[in-house]
Amino acid sequence: MNAYLLIDEYHRPQDLAKAVEILSKFGRKARVIAGGTDILPRRPGVGKTHYIAHLVDISDLDLNYIKSENRRIRIGAATPINTLGAIAEFSSAPYQALSEAADAHSSPTIKNRATVGGNLCNASACADLTLPLLAMDATLLAAGPDGQREIPITDFFRGANYMALDDNEILLEICIPRQPENTGSAFIKLRRQQTAIDMAVVNVATLLTGSRGHCEVARIALGAVAPIALRAPGAESVLAGKKLTGKAISEAAATVVEEISPIGDIRATAAYRREMVGVLVRRALETSRQRCEG
Ligand SMILES: Cc1cc2nc3c(=O)[nH]c(=O)nc-3n(C[C@H](O)[C@H](O)[C@H](O)COP(=O)(O)OP(=O)(O)OC[C@H]3O[C@@H](n4cnc5c(N)ncnc54)[C@H](O)[C@@H]3O)c2cc1C
Repeated sequence: MNAYLLIDEYHRPQDLAKAVEILSKFGRKARVIAGGTDILPRRPGVGKTHYIAHLVDISDLDLNYIKSENRRIRIGAATPINTLGAIAEFSSAPYQALSEAADAHSSPTIKNRATVGGNLCNASACADLTLPLLAMDATLLAAGPDGQREIPITDFFRGANYMALDDNEILLEICIPRQPENTGSAFIKLRRQQTAIDMAVVNVATLLTGSRGHCEVARIALGAVAPIALRAPGAESVLAGKKLTGKAISEAAATVVEEISPIGDIRATAAYRREMVGVLVRRALETSRQRCEG
C-alpha cells in the first residue's frame, strides 16, 4: 500500500475475468480504482517506494447493489456509501450502526463516490464502515485468478493500510449474516474538528443481542486505537452471558481501555484516545442495549 500514482494507463474492463487478468499482468504496478477518493489523492512522499502505473476501474463489473435475503444481506463492493445511508432496513434495529457509520462518513459529495469496498480495502484503522461490519461479523467475498474465496472480516486487516487481498484479487461483496431480532447496534465517531471530512480520532461500533435483560452476544469494534480496526474480545466476554446492567456495561468499557495501546498522532494524544474509547464504548453499549430491548 506504500505507493503513489504515476499513471500510464487507465483500464475499464467489462467483466471480472478481464479485470483479474489486467491486475495479474501488471502485479503491484496495477491497482483497483472504485470511487477514487482514497487512491487519487496519493502523491509521492516520504517512504513511498513504488508507484502505481495502471488503474483498473471496477465500475462496469456490476458490483453496485444491496440484496436483502433471508439469511444474509449482500452488499456489492462498489456500492457508494451514501446508498447505505438511504436504505430503510439499515436505519432500524438491528442494523442501525451501518446507517450511523454511513452518515458519519465524510461529506455528501465524497460519499457519492466513495464505496464500501474501498473503505475496507484502504485498510485504514479509522475507516468508518469497517466498524459496524466487524460488529456484525461480516464475511468478504473476493475473486482472483484461482476463483473466489471468502474471508472473515476479522482476518482481513493485516497492518496499517495493509489487507489480506493479493495484488490480483478484487473484493466483490460484503455479506452480513442476518442478526437476531432482539439485537441492537450503535456506531459513534469522535472527530477532532467536528467537520464532515474529519477522520475519526476514535470510532466504535457495538452490537448486543439480549433476551429478558441478559446478554447473549456482545461484539465491540474499535477504530483508530491500533494499527488496524479490531474487536475487543476481553470486553465482549465481560458481557456475554451476563445480565445487561449499567455496571456490567461500565466494566466492559473499562476492560476495553485495558485491551488497547493507542498511539498519539496529529489528531490526538494516546492518553486522550484511551480516555475517549472508554466513554464511546460505554455510550454505544447503552444505546445498543436500549435498541435490543426495543
Ligand atoms: C475529503 C475526504 C474525506 C474523507 N472522509 C472519510 C471519513 O469520514 N471516513 C472514512 O472512513 N474515510 C474517509 N475518507 C477516505 C475515503 O473516502 C474512504 O476510505 C472511501 O470509502 C474509499 O472508497 P473509494 O471507493 O473511494 O476507494 P478508492 O480510492 O477507489 O480505493 C481505495 C483503496 O482500495 C482499493 N480498492 C477499492 N475497491 C476495491 C475492490 N473492490 N477490490 C480490491 N481493492 C479495492 C484500491 O485499490 C485502493 O487501494 C475521506 C477521503 C477524502 C478525500
